[in-house]
Amino acid sequence: MLFKDVVAQDEVKDFLRKAITSRRLPHALLFLGETGKGTLSMALALAQYILCENRADIDACGVCNHCHKAGKYIHPDIHFTYPTIGSKMTSGDLLPEWRKFLGQGSYQNVQEWYAAIDGENKQGNITKSECDRILKILSLKTFEGSHKILIIWMAEFLGAQGNRLLKILEEPPENTHFILIAERQDELLNTILSRCQIISFRPVPDPAIARYLMETSVTDRNTATQIAYLSEGNIIEAMTLSQHTNEKITDLWIEWMRIAYKGYGLEVNPWVDAFSKLNRESQKAFMHFGLHFLRELLLFKVDNSHTIRLLEREKKALIKMSDIINSDTINKIIDMIEQNVFHLERNINSKILLLDNSIRIHYLLRNQKQQLSAVLSV
Ligand SMILES: [Zn+2]
Repeated sequence: MLFKDVVAQDEVKDFLRKAITSRRLPHALLFLGETGKGTLSMALALAQYILCENRADIDACGVCNHCHKAGKYIHPDIHFTYPTIGSKMTSGDLLPEWRKFLGQGSYQNVQEWYAAIDGENKQGNITKSECDRILKILSLKTFEGSHKILIIWMAEFLGAQGNRLLKILEEPPENTHFILIAERQDELLNTILSRCQIISFRPVPDPAIARYLMETSVTDRNTATQIAYLSEGNIIEAMTLSQHTNEKITDLWIEWMRIAYKGYGLEVNPWVDAFSKLNRESQKAFMHFGLHFLRELLLFKVDNSHTIRLLEREKKALIKMSDIINSDTINKIIDMIEQNVFHLERNINSKILLLDNSIRIHYLLRNQKQQLSAVLSV
């Protein structure tokens, strides 16, 4: 993988390139952030850049023998550790599966990895046997390159086994680089953290996500922009959303808010019927969009100069709605929608749920109106 294939994260790229050029690359790095922000992709690009024999200031050459092997994840001096299922398993046992997985893209999360190894709904870990394997591999000489690199993906799965790696992290063999990748800093041992230079990955900016979607899966620019707004800077999240988020979902949301506000029973029933016909993933995408809409609404209520991250049509609906709803009510509806996500995951009857929601939202808005007129009449 080349740096140019990692979406955004220019500051991290600059830091790494400069560190290598000035021969000051820390021997143990920790890339912190969701895989969807590009942590695994960046580790792959960095490993290739370190080993490339014709690297330029900006990127690896992409064509030399080292780049060729690194690009296929078969370079003998780039080693990988990742969570596996079962107490005796090592990453070495699943190398063909791992290479195939990476071949499908480095913007994939750990659940997708488990699915690839038939381990859905199971708890993975990085085992004692894997730590022993790491120590053995790193004690060997390099095969082809001048450097040896170990990428540990989802390092939080090391748990207490991480203690076995402390010594080698403290005093690594010559020309050995560790790139640890983790999503949750609080699950890593402090002794590991203190031995690594931590690089935190920021959310990928909306325009970069929209561009990526246009290049890969989404044809319509508006939809790509909409999904980027919803994805919280996470490419994997954006790709999942792109399968279920569309104009129908956003129209349905705006319509719901209007109907719940007016409280016309005749309109509520057909709307709830239409919603219940959506599949579960689309229903969750609806709730996801709703939460984003309400949070944007809340920010706009607090500060009218807030740049609303919505498309034009929905932006207009939000501005109109901000006149009739107060922050307290918005927060109550947010709580309701968050609970809906929880219930939908447990296969609750969506018709009853949404009918109940519609009535509650109507009363919330109505009570708020009464409170307002009570205040005004004082
Ligand atoms: Zn090269």
